[in-house]
Amino acid sequence: MTSAPPSRLGPSGPASLGRRGAHAQERRGAPALQYACASPAERPLLTASPHIATDADIAATALEDPLGVVADALLRGEEALELASRHLDPSLVDVLAILGFDKRYVSAQGSYLYDADGRAYLDFHSGEGFASLGHNHPDVRRVLQNTLAADLVDGVQIHYSALAGMLAEALCGLLPDGLDAVFFASTGAEAVDSAMKFARAASGRSRLISCESGFHGVTLGPLSLVGDDFFKEGFGPLLPGCCTVPFGDLERLEAELRAGDVAAFIVEPVQGRTVTLPPAGYLQAAQELCRRHGAMFVLDEIQTGLGRTGAWFALERWRLQPDFVLVGKALSGGCMPVAAMVTSREIYQRAVGTLERCYVHQSTFGRNRLSMAAGLATIRVIERDGLLAHAARMGELLREGLAELQRRHPIVKQVRACGLMIGVELGEPGGRMARVNWRLIHMASEGLFPQLVVIPLHRDHGVITMAAGKNDVIKLLPPLTVSEREVASFLAALDAVLADCQGAGGRNWGVVREIAATTLRRRARAAAR
Ligand code: PLP
Repeated sequence: MTSAPPSRLGPSGPASLGRRGAHAQERRGAPALQYACASPAERPLLTASPHIATDADIAATALEDPLGVVADALLRGEEALELASRHLDPSLVDVLAILGFDKRYVSAQGSYLYDADGRAYLDFHSGEGFASLGHNHPDVRRVLQNTLAADLVDGVQIHYSALAGMLAEALCGLLPDGLDAVFFASTGAEAVDSAMKFARAASGRSRLISCESGFHGVTLGPLSLVGDDFFKEGFGPLLPGCCTVPFGDLERLEAELRAGDVAAFIVEPVQGRTVTLPPAGYLQAAQELCRRHGAMFVLDEIQTGLGRTGAWFALERWRLQPDFVLVGKALSGGCMPVAAMVTSREIYQRAVGTLERCYVHQSTFGRNRLSMAAGLATIRVIERDGLLAHAARMGELLREGLAELQRRHPIVKQVRACGLMIGVELGEPGGRMARVNWRLIHMASEGLFPQLVVIPLHRDHGVITMAAGKNDVIKLLPPLTVSEREVASFLAALDAVLADCQGAGGRNWGVVREIAATTLRRRARAAAR
């Protein structure tokens, strides 16, 4: 297998970013983006990929892998979906097949995935922002290989590694003064759960407020904060003392806070599922209300953090000074499970800061060396390659292009964008037949309609996007390294798909109408049983 050409910028950046990190790039002027532009992702779509494992690759891999794990995985690639159906989640495998997403992807690099037939897919979702540096970033991979080669200590609970301290130092350096204490976890949900516990313990209060339509993860604690009943159905009773208020409604928030028993208000600065931006002044006023009523202000930046919005953190846009910031997804470098809860030393100590209680909140894998190394590599790549300014510029290009498409395609109701976090909301189409189809599709499932665009983008143009949930929003989260040419390819593909959605006679309508009809028939049969 081949890898992306190494960056011409040479070895990694400064030993630590420190507080200067947040503004260093603007001061120095953003360096030219090397990785994104040099990426093999510039290859045109539908080309034979050099990333498909050949017999020689498999033989070479077997020589270096005495247990044969990777060679077996390469050999058994064709069984992947069957194995998933048997031992993982057959319903998800069925959904993938229905939507035509049941491809056998065999490799990934930069902005592209490659399937077994050598077809390239432009990834404009990047695993919900997980692969923010693009797939298999060569420098992250090298850092991980070097970390393993160094035989560092891992998993010894009485030990703190320099890597963990360095990543904590780097994160604190990117955040406002006073956020200087870090707890590392393996998933975003675990970081949210940690903030829920720390806020309760430090405040001596129990209630937790979050927002309608908000998302914070699916383990039982964070699920109690999720503002969408669809995710909660069947899993109750959830945590007592949790309630939601409408996003943007300060009166309802204050009514809850006034009771004086609220430990924390937990909010995403931009709601990730629908890419809903806060009304002007909302987040600052919510923070102020929390201060006034003695509640903690927790900003869930698991999706918005580390460059997604064109800044290190979305909080910079509104000059917020939260009590907690939660980080995940992009911190992984697209490789390792890692998330973080960042708070003040004072809150940390109040929650668990005694000799007796210093180990009551722990996580076996939280500070593992590969996750810590991946987080540090991610921050250094973003700084070195000027990815904040680049993401802001590519986000603006996309927003302008989408606005132009909206003017020509009435089915596009609204485009919402914050850097490279973009939601394209579809609306009810014009024309009698199209409206009948629209209703049928919504009767079958509230989240099905965006597939009218998502399916043909994938099938006909090799572009990966995602329907955002039980709504009519198509979610775009391209890698921060996305190039101008990739933005242009995406816009051209979307233009062609939207043109086919006009009227109700196009192929796209037929496919989604058939999925809706099948769903309704299955539901009727199940109800009759
Ligand atoms: N918080 C937000 C804002 C998220 O978008 C997500 C995941 O999508 C989470 C929390 C949960 O993260 P994880 O899936 O890593 O548990």
